[in-house]
This record gives sequence, structure tokens and C-alpha cells, in this order.
Amino acid sequence: MTGDAVVNPQNFAVRLGTNYQEVLEAAGGFKTEPEKIISGGPMMGQALFSLDIPVMKNSSALTCLTKDEVAANAETACIRCGRCVDVCPGHVVPQMMMAAAERHDLAMFEKLNGMECCECGSCTFICPAHRPLTQAFKEMRKAVMAERRKKA
Ligand code: SF4
Ligand code: SF4
Repeated sequence: MTGDAVVNPQNFAVRLGTNYQEVLEAAGGFKTEPEKIISGGPMMGQALFSLDIPVMKNSSALTCLTKDEVAANAETACIRCGRCVDVCPGHVVPQMMMAAAERHDLAMFEKLNGMECCECGSCTFICPAHRPLTQAFKEMRKAVMAERRKKA
């Protein structure tokens, strides 16, 4: 349980099926209204709209961010610095894949070897423009897989 919005951020060992709300209460609740709640960490996690969700096998963290934390990580335009390319273990070009993702261009995403992305999160971590690269690639990979299943 982490993030500046939580009274006592800490680790818990909980049973699968425990409601997130109960875990939050065990951490003292919110000290301030969270701007964003994420299942997982800020790089790889998924935004949540409710805490009425059970802890599952793949639950790693609940990240509750304040307005200031969200503002500090606000997305800006790509400055073409190339840092995402330098860190990518899959030797793909995240900056271009993101352009394809923004147009939901599945064919271009595949052409750019987007399916080689292992969703490690390195590009999102290093990006000075705070672009949600990994999250976008995760969605694009899912969409490509769904298209492939339709055609099979
Ligand atoms: S690290 Fe971010 S800002 Fe730099 S090229 Fe990649 S997407 Fe653009
Ligand atoms: S998330 Fe994908 S594109 Fe980004 S650095 Fe990792 S493998 Fe490369």
C-alpha cells in the first residue's frame, strides 16, 4: 500500500480475495483525497475507479497518488530525445510505436516489431515527457492478439 495519499504506506501479507478497501483501512485510510489510484506501480499498473476489488494472485501494490504527485508526472509532448530507444531490451523504437498506438494503427505497430515488447516498463521509466509508453503497448499488443485470433 503506497503513495502520498495513504496515512501509513506499508507492506501487508493478505489472503487472496481480501478487499482493497480493507487493506486501505489497515493502512489508516486516506489522509487526502487521492487524485489517482493504481493497481500496481505507476509505470505498469492499471488505474482503478473503485476499491471494491479483491486482492488477486497478480496484485502487487495499490498506489494512491495525490494531486501533486500526478501533476509532477503529467504527460507532455515527445521531445525526441531517444532515451526510450537506448534502454529498450527488445531493440524496438518506443517513440515510433507510441505514434502508431496513438492512431491505433495495428499494422504499423506490428511493422515496427511492437509485438517484441516484453512490457518491461523501462521506456516509461526513462521518458522525461512522462509518456505512458508501456501502458499503450500493452493495449496495442492485446488488440493485435485479438485481431490474430479473429483471423485464425
Ligand atoms: S524517451 Fe520519451 S520524450 Fe524521449 S524519445 Fe522516447 S517517448 Fe520521446
Ligand atoms: S516496455 Fe517494451 S518498448 Fe518499452 S523498453 Fe520495455 S520492451 Fe522496450
